[in-house]
Formats: sequence, C-alpha cells, structure tokens
Amino acid sequence: PERLVTGKRAEEDAAELALRPQTLDDFIGQKQVRENLKIFIAAAKGRGEALDHVLLHGPPGLGKTTMAQIVAREMGVGFRATSGPVIQKAGDLAAQLTNLQPHDVLFIDEIHRLNPAIEEVLYPAMEDFQLDLMIGEGPAARSVRIELPPFTLVGATTRSGLMTRPLRERFGIPLRMIFYTPDELETIVQRAARVLKMSLAPDGSAEIAKRSRGTPRVANRLLRRVRDFAAVAGNAGVDARIADAALTRLEVDDRGLDAMDRRYLACIAENYGGGPVGAETLAAALAEQRDVIEDVIEPYLMQLGLLMRTPRGRLLSEGGYRHLGLSIPKGQKQ
Ligand code: ADP
Repeated sequence: PERLVTGKRAEEDAAELALRPQTLDDFIGQKQVRENLKIFIAAAKGRGEALDHVLLHGPPGLGKTTMAQIVAREMGVGFRATSGPVIQKAGDLAAQLTNLQPHDVLFIDEIHRLNPAIEEVLYPAMEDFQLDLMIGEGPAARSVRIELPPFTLVGATTRSGLMTRPLRERFGIPLRMIFYTPDELETIVQRAARVLKMSLAPDGSAEIAKRSRGTPRVANRLLRRVRDFAAVAGNAGVDARIADAALTRLEVDDRGLDAMDRRYLACIAENYGGGPVGAETLAAALAEQRDVIEDVIEPYLMQLGLLMRTPRGRLLSEGGYRHLGLSIPKGQKQ
C-alpha cells in the first residue's frame, strides 16, 4: 500500500481540488513567499509586463503547484503545466511554448529532472523569448528561430541543488517554501473539514496538524483517513482521542513519523553506530530510492532535529536516539 506520509502526488479527488486555495490572501502560511510575490505581481501588472520567471523550491506537498496556479490567477493569465521528466524532446517543449498566450504561466514541475539538451533550448526562451530549433539531421540540418510571446516560467523543484547553475540563475524570483507550523496546519485542516462537511473538534484538528510533517498534503490525507476510521467506528465526529486512535493505527507517531521514518532512524542507530553514513548506503540498506530518502524522509527529520547532514554523511542526533527510546552511546561526539 502507498505510504501515507510520502507527500507524493496521488490522483486528486474532487474534494482535494476544492481544498486548493485560489488567491494569495486565501493561502495559509508561507508568509515570506506570499509577500514577495505580491510585490512582484503588482509591479509586473503596473508595467503591463509578464512576471519574471519564478523558481519555487522545497519538499513535496508544501503547495508549489498550488502557488503556481495562484500566480497565474493573480496575474489574470492562462496556466499550463508540465514536468521535467515528461519533456522528452526539444519538440515537446517547443509545442508547450508556442501554445502560450502573452504573459501566460508555464509551470514545470520537477524542473531539476529536465534533460540537459532541453535546458539549452530553454535558456534563450527564458531570456529573449526566442526558440532556436534544429530541423532535420546531418548535413541537411538547419536551425530556425521562432519568436515567442513574453511568458512566465514557474519552475518547481524539491532540490534546487540538483539544478544546473545556468538554469537556476535564469529565474529572477527564487522562492523557498518551508514546512508549515502546527498552527497553520490546524487552520488548513479545519478549512478542509468544513469543505468535507465533517465534524471536527478543535483538539482533533490540533492532533492531526501536529502529526502532519509540516505538510498540507499530508494533513489533508490524514484528515480523510481519520474521517474514514471514525465513520467505521461509528463516531459522528472526530476529536483528539479518535484522531489519536486512528493515527496510531496508521503507525503515524506523535511527531508525525511513520514506520519508514523510524526504520530509517533505527538503521543508522543500530547498523551504523549512529553515523556518519552516506545516503547511498542507507538507500541500499533500506531498499528505498535515494530520491525518496533525500526529498521526503530526511528534510522533516532534520527539521525536527533528529538527524544531521554532515559532509561525511548522516548523523543521528541525541534527539534521534531519544525518539527511538535509546540513549546516546557513551563517547559519541555530537
Ligand atoms: P507541491 O506542488 O509542493 O507538491 P501542491 O501544491 O500539490 O504541493 O499541494 C499539495 C496539497 O496541499 C494540495 O491538495 C493543496 O490543496 C494543499 N495545500 C498546499 N498548500 C496549502 C495551503 N497553504 N493551504 C491549504 N491547502 C494547501
């Protein structure tokens, strides 16, 4: 079964789409990102220009796609979406770009996974709104130049460190999305409960918020799982006790860690003496993809202070040992 807390995109149902905030003012949290965007959007609109290219980076499920849609809506322009791995050939990108109306937003999710040859095509498109394409092969090959309407590229990435520097530097507005506070998540969960027409006591939303890994996608998912659990158990509403019972059943612990997170921590503690140990080694030991470890598991564990990333590898903190119910081995330096 799919892990609850991966933060990976799943088929969104109608309810989830209804949960998406539509405007910057509707959007809960990410205050700095919102304030920045507000200014840049007002300035671009004032000049009658396309908004400068925006790069959103941060862990999955924090609202990057949602924010990109809001940017288009606030600018009053069209929105088109694609993703790095989907764009296989230069022609795929050309088709997207030549279909844009002036000032439209083109959203490229997972932009760090764009093929390098396609990146080359993107540079002049971003800088000069020009597309240089090679037509044909061998001696008959020639290049054609296509003028593009001015547009805004909104790129999203879980790790901007994996992007090439020239690509990164072509975004005039780089913005970092951070984990949400429990208070912000509580507001998000309460709003979602209203949309879902479910009865949720304040202590119930607090319990779900606290265990949602700072991530709205996880919060919305946990809320629905808790609702199912309550319905099957014959409870009319959800309070902290019912939320706790459901989340415990789902193996989501009191800090939002799931079985995989705990296996990860235990692996470092028990097999590698608390570290340092490299990501590749851990991925092999846990039979998990390195991407998942670095994009999903580690950022939240570091946020909680349970894990440290050092140049020599991952290191369990004292808090990490404590979370496992272990004490830090004698003589271990932190
Ligand atoms: P990302 O692109 O970063 O993976 P998404 O934009 O797809 O994240 O958001 C994941 C889910 O979380 C969506 O269902 C969205 O409705 C919800 N969400 C994200 N940010 C917020 C927010 N600030 N308030 C309410 N819901 C949010």
